[in-house]
Amino acid sequence: MYNPKSHKAEEFIDHNEVLETLKFADKNKSNIKLIDEIIAKAKLEKGLTHREAAVLLTCNIKEKNDEILSLAKKIKEKYYGNRIVLFAPLYISNYCVNGCVYCPYHSKNTTIPRKKMTQEEIKKEVIALQDMGHKRIALETGEDPVNNPIEYVLESIKTIYSIKHKNGAIRRINVNIAATTVENYKKLHEAGIGTYVLFQETYNKESYEKLHPTGPKHNYAYHTEAMDRAMQGGIDDVSLGVLFGLESYLYEFSALLMHAEHLEAAYGVGPHAISVPRIKPADGIDPDTFDNGIDDETFCKIVACIRVAVPYTGLIISTRESASCREKLLALGVSQMSGGSKTSVGGYDNPSEEDKESAQFEVSDRRTLDEVVNWLMKLGYLPSFCTACYGSGRTGDRFMEICKKQQIHNFCHPNALLTLKEYLVDYASPLTKLTGEELIKTEIDNIQDENIRKITVENLSKIETGARNFKF
Ligand code: SF4
Ligand code: SF4
Repeated sequence: MYNPKSHKAEEFIDHNEVLETLKFADKNKSNIKLIDEIIAKAKLEKGLTHREAAVLLTCNIKEKNDEILSLAKKIKEKYYGNRIVLFAPLYISNYCVNGCVYCPYHSKNTTIPRKKMTQEEIKKEVIALQDMGHKRIALETGEDPVNNPIEYVLESIKTIYSIKHKNGAIRRINVNIAATTVENYKKLHEAGIGTYVLFQETYNKESYEKLHPTGPKHNYAYHTEAMDRAMQGGIDDVSLGVLFGLESYLYEFSALLMHAEHLEAAYGVGPHAISVPRIKPADGIDPDTFDNGIDDETFCKIVACIRVAVPYTGLIISTRESASCREKLLALGVSQMSGGSKTSVGGYDNPSEEDKESAQFEVSDRRTLDEVVNWLMKLGYLPSFCTACYGSGRTGDRFMEICKKQQIHNFCHPNALLTLKEYLVDYASPLTKLTGEELIKTEIDNIQDENIRKITVENLSKIETGARNFKF
């Protein structure tokens, strides 16, 4: 029985409710009256239920689909302006005891070189990331209680935060590790992580069990209830995601929104962010063997429908996607993206690691961070390296409250300018620096509050003379 407040996976992601939602959406895919009502509700920017959002995603009327896309753009502009927050993944170990059939790190893959970085190697990797200009990372590791115990993850977090190379610093570590216990989530919280990230991969239990035939990840309920345990462990910023291509996208989309509704109903705070990865080629993995692949057009519509369904939730896109696809998705609702990513263990300090077939997936966007920053600015976006909320205690429901009152812009915008300025002074190529300085000059005028504008201008010049880490 569907119950968003329940703590049982099979009740908050009730299979029958998903099937009923798909039926309801299919029945109403040409129902202009209902579609108009849902669009009108979406325009209030308070979000949609999973059933309403599924109707929009299924809608087959061209004019209505255009309306949905343009509403997504409007909401994106209103809540996120032209800012795009940048981050990089950091893979510390690819040892894994699980059997996920779509991932080259699965335990039966004997051809992939296995690697676990020592703290000294992590240090070098972090220095390489800092030298690129990154301030925010997503720490990634396979599940292996012997090789990657929680102590190893905690020690690595400590190492990463401790490294201050030149003007560099990693100021926010989001963590993407396997589902674990409340005790371990408490430890991660105490270690000062930003967001806990865990992709569901697929919400369809039957498919989930087939795609995860061996290892602890086989347990659907334990995996699906991980965010509940993370919240109980004190982590109030969690990030959801599915791997599009494994199951029917409509099923995943509806269940993903049900998961968001569950977190809101049970803990009073929805997901901080949602990631939308699509399955990609990797060592021994051919995406064509999964028959639920989605084309770019459908993918754009999924992103737009997520944007209108959960306006306050960040939307993340990785370098799995090509530059041209990322460009389309940016306009429709994406607020964060990775740049200059390496998906192998040790790939930043030693780029040849990336060529040893040890990467988790093939990166489509292979540009450097500087190229991505420059490209974003040329498209009219404001690249941001901001991590301020985490350092200022604006997390969980405190963060959501500010978002819902539409006040987060007052923090994000000046912080984007300050962190972009740091990037330009410390790391940018001459061309990027030139473009960026012009952009900052224009964007200062878009700070509405006179006092904040004044402080921002002062701090921008202090950055020129060596001061760092100003934030609102
Ligand atoms: Fe291991 Fe994660 Fe890959 Fe599964 S997806 S094999 S858990 S690294
Ligand atoms: Fe993100 Fe907060 Fe910075 Fe805005 S101010 S970009 S929400 S960390």
